[in-house]
Parts: sequence; C-alpha cells; structure tokens
Amino acid sequence: MSKSACFVTQEATEEILSRVTHMCAECYAEIHLGDTIHYDMQNYRYLCERCQEELCEKMNDECEIIAEESDGLFG
Ligand SMILES: [Zn+2]
Repeated sequence: MSKSACFVTQEATEEILSRVTHMCAECYAEIHLGDTIHYDMQNYRYLCERCQEELCEKMNDECEIIAEESDGLFG
C-alpha cells in the first residue's frame, strides 16, 4: 500500500497519449485510450500495470530501486 505512493495511477487520456507518450517506458507496450497507467514520479515516465507491479516489488519504502547486488549475499 505504501509503495503505491511512488506512482500516480491514471487513466490514459487522449491528452497523455498525444502529448506525453503512447507507450510504456519500460516494455514499450502500446498504451490505449482508457488503459490504466502509472506515472513513475521518480523517473518522470509512464508505465503499464505489469511494469509498475514489477517495479514495486524491487522498491524500498523510499521508492528507490533496490540494487540486485547487495553486499555479498552469495559470497
Ligand atoms: Zn510496461
């Protein structure tokens, strides 16, 4: 719940599609009018639902992407 504060959930409007973007910034899937999209406030870009969910899982409470290589977990 707290992690959704990193994103603004919106419905894709004609204005967004024509003036901002018509594709997901992560997977480049096409966004259609009326789709649920998520504005990533850390990176100023729009993501589709799937990418937003994936990103959420990698984020900490500060909306930062947690690096894959954390101190020697397998070392
Ligand atoms: Zn996507």
